[in-house]
Amino acid sequence: AFRHKLRFIAAAKSATSLPPVDLPEVAFAGRSNVGKSSLINALTRQWGVARTSDKPGLTQSINFFRLGGRLCLVDLPGYGFAYAAEEKKEAWEEFVKEFVTTRAGLKRVYILVDAKWGLKLKDEELVQLMEKMGTKYQIVLTKSDIVTPVDLGRRATQILEIFKGNKCLMLPMIMVSSKTGEGLEFFRGNVAKLARA
Ligand code: GDP
Repeated sequence: AFRHKLRFIAAAKSATSLPPVDLPEVAFAGRSNVGKSSLINALTRQWGVARTSDKPGLTQSINFFRLGGRLCLVDLPGYGFAYAAEEKKEAWEEFVKEFVTTRAGLKRVYILVDAKWGLKLKDEELVQLMEKMGTKYQIVLTKSDIVTPVDLGRRATQILEIFKGNKCLMLPMIMVSSKTGEGLEFFRGNVAKLARA
């Protein structure tokens, strides 16, 4: 799937502007600044399509990118930054939550967690929501290059411990660095299994 050209297809700000499902979809979620844009760029080796933003929290839409006729990558807005007004933020969260729990065609949600900071409350809430609703998800530790292998292992163990009763949490946990390329090939393989043959 990753040999195909990445093409932007839509940015949805509300349920009514969602594009129709015509491919298997995989979504990427995580706190602002977790390294989501860098990861999508690195995975697809197509720099610039999913633009790395230096203004955290400004991507207020769900963005859809096609990879040939195989897969649709869905970039969910980063959470955890308090720029938007409280009321607006809530409506927004509802939209994203509804998307991850009801979207037909959504095969998996990758929840990106910064290897340095570990799991935060918002990540945990999202995981538990998906667990409850039966959405398949998988945790991805990002920026693996900025922690020692021992600390990386500790992070992974902590997360597994927190979610040990969860059925949806699939093993192995993915660890990647967009900077060094570590884990990218494994991640591509993992995502590609969800693509249309
Ligand atoms: P987003 O807000 O989640 O889309 O995050 P970005 O992709 O814009 O990255 C946020 C910051 O983390 C930027 O300064 C990136 O250069 C940095 N970053 C992203 N990925 C990595 C990585 O794998 N290793 C390191 N060391 N820094 C990274």
